[in-house]
Amino acid sequence: MNDSIVLFSGGLDSALCAEMEIRKGNRPRLVSFNYGQSNLIELEYAEQLATGMNLPHETHKLPRIHGKIGDVYPGRNLILISAAMPIACSNNAKRIIIGCNLTDYNEFPDCRIRFIDRLNGICEQAKYPFIIDAPLINLTKKEVVEKAIAYGVNLGKTWSCYQPKKIATETWSHWGECGKCGACMVRRNAIENNA
Ligand SMILES: [Zn+2]
Repeated sequence: MNDSIVLFSGGLDSALCAEMEIRKGNRPRLVSFNYGQSNLIELEYAEQLATGMNLPHETHKLPRIHGKIGDVYPGRNLILISAAMPIACSNNAKRIIIGCNLTDYNEFPDCRIRFIDRLNGICEQAKYPFIIDAPLINLTKKEVVEKAIAYGVNLGKTWSCYQPKKIATETWSHWGECGKCGACMVRRNAIENNA
């Protein structure tokens, strides 16, 4: 069944969302956005993950989202979910899946249950043929990691860091995680707690 799309950042949460769909026998379409994020490298990870999962994947360029406050792009999920709506319609998708989790709650207002509920209220009022589905919304990051491991998600193939650092020598270079940003800390804590 191909009735869902997953907002696919290349991170752990969206990788788990995609894997959960596969386990249900679904074949979701993975949708990534380039909005000028500080960690564009995540889009390469998204592409590789999608290939590994053998799922259809598309990346769309959006106008750059400015005004980042700390790690937060105000309104980002609202923008990304809205941008995904016509994609859902054109693919007859009944669910737009987003990987918000409980650990995002404090810092990211647009990851809260009430925010997603309100969006679903808008979808219902507008009689849109899809819902916004946030299957991880009651899980802590530790529980997300636990579930991802149980579902066979290769954590090493996901990307979380917001502030990648270029690591270079004379002969090669690659992007590495900063180890200090909110995403790095949350990820490390969650993984260490599952070790
Ligand atoms: Zn980082």
